[in-house]
Amino acid sequence: MDFPKQNIDALRGLIECEPRNVVVLSHTNPDGDALGSSLAWGEALRRQGHKVTCVVPNNYPYYLEWMTGIKDVVIYKSEESRVKAAVAEADLIFCLDFHSLTRLDAPLCEVVRTNTTATRVLVDHHLNPPQEFNLMFSYPESSSTSYLVYCLIEALWGTQSITATQAEVLYVGMMTDTGNFSFSTLTPDLYRAVAVLCETGINIPQLYNNVYNAFTEGRARLFGYTINRKMKLLRKGTVAHLSLTEAEMRRFWFQQGDSEGFVNYPLTIKKMRMSAMFTEHKDFIRVSLRSRGAVDVNLFAGRYFQGGGHKNAAGGKSFVSMEETIAHFERAVEEFAKEGHL
Ligand code: 5GP
Ligand code: MN
Repeated sequence: MDFPKQNIDALRGLIECEPRNVVVLSHTNPDGDALGSSLAWGEALRRQGHKVTCVVPNNYPYYLEWMTGIKDVVIYKSEESRVKAAVAEADLIFCLDFHSLTRLDAPLCEVVRTNTTATRVLVDHHLNPPQEFNLMFSYPESSSTSYLVYCLIEALWGTQSITATQAEVLYVGMMTDTGNFSFSTLTPDLYRAVAVLCETGINIPQLYNNVYNAFTEGRARLFGYTINRKMKLLRKGTVAHLSLTEAEMRRFWFQQGDSEGFVNYPLTIKKMRMSAMFTEHKDFIRVSLRSRGAVDVNLFAGRYFQGGGHKNAAGGKSFVSMEETIAHFERAVEEFAKEGHL
């Protein structure tokens, strides 16, 4: 990634200086990329002598618990006052893997907006970031934020500075956001970065196993149930939706993160173009969208579910019942198709 020299110089000015209080923030429902980029960047900043607190709004899934350094990540929902104090004291806040403070969800969004005078730096690969940062590294064409962090480390200090611990967590971010290097955002430069990470001695099959072969029995059974019983096809089998209510999740001993990735599965059907998954939460229904090729689910999420993301992977929220959400989705699909987007 070629960053403008003035942005790298500005970043250098912020971090190559006397020790500062730094907060590294990532998004709600943190995933492998959110955590991988935060942990690697946190380590790089600590090495510069800074006091770093990595923060996520809510808990991470159990199959990421093995990541080195993850126990030091502070979860806002569990330790509100600690996060408030860190944000209030911060000189610098890095926002990693999310494009807008609203993705932190209230009340953490409010804390970051109002409770600090810190300089805010964005490092992210989602579309349409608002103007609420002092310095921006926004690259929607990047396959992951972890790849951007890799490039920032390269530009600032050279890749020889990357430790095996950083390489492991960066690899996890790159692997999870690209569907184990299978989505359409792959570039020769990404593979060159992976080669550099490899040279630090990381064990790639083990990293894969740690993330993808570490689920519970309940998750395997919930997956079977969801695909068999809850997958509905529309428009001659080119659009699919899946849904899970809280009661259904409880029946399969649901743990946070258990339904991650289910939404990708309908796209293994050859003619599928778009897939949606609705999961019921206490106050809303989470909407996950995936698509193939030209179908733009970022546009769809923004228009119909107050959300966004990437062209082929996006999400949003619904504040009506599951039945109404599904009916709204089905009408939206027809409208979207009529306009030639599907
Ligand atoms: P997922 O389906 O894995 O939760 O999210 C897919 C993509 O959509 C991610 O890049 C995520 O950041 C984005 N996304 C998910 N939910 C929302 C949302 O409520 N608002 C916005 N703007 N983006 C979202
Ligand atoms: Mn990401």
